[in-house]
Amino acid sequence: MAEKTRISFFVDDVGAYTTGVPGKPRDEVCPVDASALKDFLDYVKDKQIACAISVIPGWAGALLTKPKNDHEQRFAEVLATIKDYPVDAHMEIMTHGALFDFSTMTFRSDRNEMEWLDDHNVSVQEYRDYFLNTIKVGRELGVCYSGLSTPGTHPDMNPNVWTALLDLAEAGEFPNYAVPVFATIEEGPETFSPRAMAKRDKFAVYDMPSGVWDHFASWRNSPDWMSVDHYLNPEGNGHLAAIIKAGSPMALFHAHWQGLNPQTGLGWKTFQDMIDRLIKIYGDRIIWQRPSEIAQQIGNDGKE
Ligand SMILES: [Zn+2]
Repeated sequence: MAEKTRISFFVDDVGAYTTGVPGKPRDEVCPVDASALKDFLDYVKDKQIACAISVIPGWAGALLTKPKNDHEQRFAEVLATIKDYPVDAHMEIMTHGALFDFSTMTFRSDRNEMEWLDDHNVSVQEYRDYFLNTIKVGRELGVCYSGLSTPGTHPDMNPNVWTALLDLAEAGEFPNYAVPVFATIEEGPETFSPRAMAKRDKFAVYDMPSGVWDHFASWRNSPDWMSVDHYLNPEGNGHLAAIIKAGSPMALFHAHWQGLNPQTGLGWKTFQDMIDRLIKIYGDRIIWQRPSEIAQQIGNDGKE
């Protein structure tokens, strides 16, 4: 049993545009101002918590290295400040949608990244090249990727993904020896440790599942998916509470920008209420760290 549980969360689908905006058709893509991202980052810093957020250079068809308006330009500028916060930047791959053609810097219409990650015919080399190209685009944005969050969940991902990430860690393309990956949600088991999926000497790639479904309005940005009590109720019970009470080495949860963002997300207040309750009830039993720190520090099957 760990003395304290290392805790963190992932925010997926972060971008200059979002869906599920109240008063608009559900799938309509609407801008989210860069100030929403800054407000979120400031909140994380002020509360002294820590997390990873996805930075998707080609989200919603907008290529942020070539902003087509002031809105995208401002969003890209705030992304470049992530390094000043206790926040990891994760690839959620280049577009979260269509595969990207890096030779022409255009979106491909024939394949998408989600099915490509599960396609067992894709080689290590192809994944490695694609990830490295995404890392390079990140650098252009002033973003240093430390891990990967997959678009969609991937319990049966091609193992070549792990190997490709390990190769890139070894080549010094990630800032740390340990590379965290968020690919699955496993609500139920009560203890979690980073799981080594590929390892060579001091370098390793870790599967780091979220242990709680997103109830901060979720990607649907729906009031039906909002519940602080799902994480922990006033008596200190709930799915996140159970992980901490079990003395788990780590506890991870996740959120989506659609529901979480402080501008159009219905779950922003739910999220803040959950954080306040968590700190109040379990503050002395948890340590906030970025996923890359957790992977680096307790990556060996939970042993320090
Ligand atoms: Zn996503």
